[in-house]
Amino acid sequence: MRLTKIVCTLGPSTDHALIMKHLINTGVDIVRINLSHGTRKEHDHRIALVRKIAAKNPIPPAVLFDTRGAAIRTGDVRDPLDIHKGQMVIFSSAPTPRKNNLPCIYVNYDGFAKDVATTKKILLDNGELSFDIVRIEKNKDVVGRAREDGVIGSRRHINLPGADVHLPSLTQKDWDDIVFAIEQDIDYVALSFIRTADDIEEVRRFIQKKKGSLSIIAKIETAQAVQNINEIIRAADGVMVARGDLGAEIPYERIPAVQDAIVSLCGDAGKPVIVATHMLESMREHPIPTRAEITDVAHAAVTQADATMLSGETANGKFPLRAVEAMANILEETERNLARFAHSGIQGVHDEREARAEAAASMSESLGLPIVVFTRSGRTAEALSKFRPSTPIIALTDTPRVQRKLCLFFGIYPLLLPFKKDPESTLQNAWTIIKKAKLLHKGDRCILVSDVRSKDGGISTVQVRAIP
Ligand code: PEP
Repeated sequence: MRLTKIVCTLGPSTDHALIMKHLINTGVDIVRINLSHGTRKEHDHRIALVRKIAAKNPIPPAVLFDTRGAAIRTGDVRDPLDIHKGQMVIFSSAPTPRKNNLPCIYVNYDGFAKDVATTKKILLDNGELSFDIVRIEKNKDVVGRAREDGVIGSRRHINLPGADVHLPSLTQKDWDDIVFAIEQDIDYVALSFIRTADDIEEVRRFIQKKKGSLSIIAKIETAQAVQNINEIIRAADGVMVARGDLGAEIPYERIPAVQDAIVSLCGDAGKPVIVATHMLESMREHPIPTRAEITDVAHAAVTQADATMLSGETANGKFPLRAVEAMANILEETERNLARFAHSGIQGVHDEREARAEAAASMSESLGLPIVVFTRSGRTAEALSKFRPSTPIIALTDTPRVQRKLCLFFGIYPLLLPFKKDPESTLQNAWTIIKKAKLLHKGDRCILVSDVRSKDGGISTVQVRAIP
């Protein structure tokens, strides 16, 4: 039973019932819909397909919406612009190009010239093409010199590495998409290009006002977000290390250290963390991954990330099923061979719930037994996951939303179970559904974490039980 979770991005390559069925059966834990691409109709269709197929599955995947965010982009061009190394170009936010002999690239942000003054380079397409800044004109046009040959198409993403960007963090499209997510009863919303905890708190207030219960994932993809990482982790429900944009916003050689630091901080905070982008990038075109990609996926597991993510590999790659299988195999093999899950000591114990979870995780580790936990809100299961036992955590909850939310957390296999007034019959029903889902079998032993009713209220217990 794999413990590290897989996030799989949907797209044209997964738009078939058979493919979706196979993805879900291979163990995709979270499906991601990237709102930077596609139409509402396409998103509706994909959500409906996932839900229809997952309805037959004891553990349906959670659904994550990934917002487009407030990115700086080039405008529409009729024909892609060929750029040659050393060529000078103008970046201008003026709606109609000013008279000039140089090629002009429209930029969708009128604070561009001001923000450019705080960096040295302009990057396009996550660094595929870059420009040195030659000068900033009085009229706010920015003159750049190409550092390599390349092509500029319509609406290309622009990064200003390390710059103090003053764009609002969310656009009207993002707010509309959050409403759409609430209406569709989506589980997670990943916020692109957020820079501070205030950005997250503003979205949380909005969700509460709309009476939604979306969980918020903060995408770390700007230098400012890296700087504010502690407050962001505190404010968010989870974090994504979005290495695509991050590798353009900070020097890419810093990615490994920043990724490991974020994974470790999230581990201590008990917040789920997803390592994303380019994990099996070559599988967009090829049926097997590169050896470096295999090691990258394994590294995320070794450092105790909750989840690893596939983007273009599954959304529009040639081998979406093989990419998920490869990721699952690499994670399983890494988990089998590395005796790393025994308490690594990076997680601090911050309250009573966590102290009990640590004790239960330690007991499961010493005895080599899986954990079964009853959890209404999901919090006790989340706390157990934080201490990374090397055995699965079977979480029983009576709330579908909690069940889906727990899909993202390391090691948790969440099952839905109506809780009865009589604890004994709830327990018997739990054994039945655990056996039916083939997670455990008659005679297997487990660590049972639950509350036992007494005349003084609930008593928290950790017991060793055999499955009847
Ligand atoms: C990223 O930049 O790594 C990322 C996950 O975001 P997107 O795929 O939306 O560019």
